[in-house]
Amino acid sequence: MSYVDEVYELVVAKNPAQPEFHQAVKEVLESLRVVIEADEEAYRKEALLERLTVPERVVQFRVPWVDDKGQVQVNNGFRVQFNSAIGPYKGGLRFHPSVNLGIIKFLGFEQIFKNSLTGLPIGGGKGGCDFDPKGKSDREVMAFCQSFMTELYRHIGADTDVPAGDIGVGGREIGFMYGQYKRIRNQYEGVLTGKGLTYGGSLARTEATGYGLLYLTEEMLKCNGKDITGKTIAVSGAGNVAIYAIQKAQQLGAKPVTCSDSTGWIYDSEGIDVALLKEVKEVKRARLTEYAAARPSAEYHEKKADEHGVWSVKCDIALPCATQNELDLEDAKALVANGCFAVAEGANMPTTLEATEYLQKNGVLFCPGKASNAGGVATSALEMSQNSERLSWTFEEVDSKLQGIMVNIFHNLDEASKKYGMEGDYVAGANIAGFLKVAEAMKAQGIV
Ligand code: GLU
Repeated sequence: MSYVDEVYELVVAKNPAQPEFHQAVKEVLESLRVVIEADEEAYRKEALLERLTVPERVVQFRVPWVDDKGQVQVNNGFRVQFNSAIGPYKGGLRFHPSVNLGIIKFLGFEQIFKNSLTGLPIGGGKGGCDFDPKGKSDREVMAFCQSFMTELYRHIGADTDVPAGDIGVGGREIGFMYGQYKRIRNQYEGVLTGKGLTYGGSLARTEATGYGLLYLTEEMLKCNGKDITGKTIAVSGAGNVAIYAIQKAQQLGAKPVTCSDSTGWIYDSEGIDVALLKEVKEVKRARLTEYAAARPSAEYHEKKADEHGVWSVKCDIALPCATQNELDLEDAKALVANGCFAVAEGANMPTTLEATEYLQKNGVLFCPGKASNAGGVATSALEMSQNSERLSWTFEEVDSKLQGIMVNIFHNLDEASKKYGMEGDYVAGANIAGFLKVAEAMKAQGIV
């Protein structure tokens, strides 16, 4: 059996009941097949793929806290420190009821390659908790965040592991966690990114993932003889990534017409009103029904199983910005049937393997999240640099660096796909380009 297949079987056998982790590993290993098989014995002897797929460290801990009724609640906290070959562990924290070890491992594994692609010195990590901030009071969120950090603080540090936000973790949660870290350690350091602007945060970090997604999409289109101006875009999600993707798409002259949350989705024939969306989601933390109620051009649809939701809308470009596996084979068929010619992932692994394959086979330009959503973590690394030099850069400075990074990422994966004879396969290009740097660093550092 080939080394790649052997390692994949090992990962499945050793990590039972972690389907998302298997999926992420499968996608990467399939892409690496050409690289590994060119020098199979050397990679096998060094057990490089085994070392790549086993996290350096996994921390799992209890998070007890007291709710507003005086009831004690207990959640499961995680931090997976996956790979530190090229820099301190870096990656977000996800607070969502679906969080379990397998989900955090898939996200941490993806983060290794994503962070490598940014060209910045950051290793891969991810963490989170099965806590649901939805419907909780600010006091409850604070109590939870303080308890979470009271355990996590001993495993992280500005030169060790630097968490940030992800689903369910925004400015409010980062603030509460930062305060608790500082209180325990008595140290003012850049241990988290996505901080508020008054206490070490970077300008443009909030916008970075969504803006970066559009910078990369624009470049991918340009390099394939297409223009983003005037194009209709279907976006899923209504969180931080979706909101700023919609905003940047409009600035580039495109027309985003959809967004979605966990209970339903919006089609707005006039194009999404970003100010209203921000008011509903960031200020009121309300459902999208409120968007529809305030906007005559918007239709609200309840989410239904077996329906394609935002992917049923006729569009040129699709940007899945909600969560993993939200775009399946049937959705992909609906997109292709409606003339969609480009998909770029804003979320982490939102497209299933079958859907990705279908899109690519049908000539749709497809960019995986580890490249197209890397703008968030790249700007986090810029926040780390600013914290280290105790300076802050202007919005324009950060934004132009972000744009340069995203354009560079696209060219790196484009070149890698060409070099290995898979021109236009940006999934393979991203995995190969991300892998080569990490593998080189791992080899140089010996058996650790
Ligand atoms: N959660 C984001 C991601 O998936 C950002 C991570 C970070 O800024 O560290 O890449």
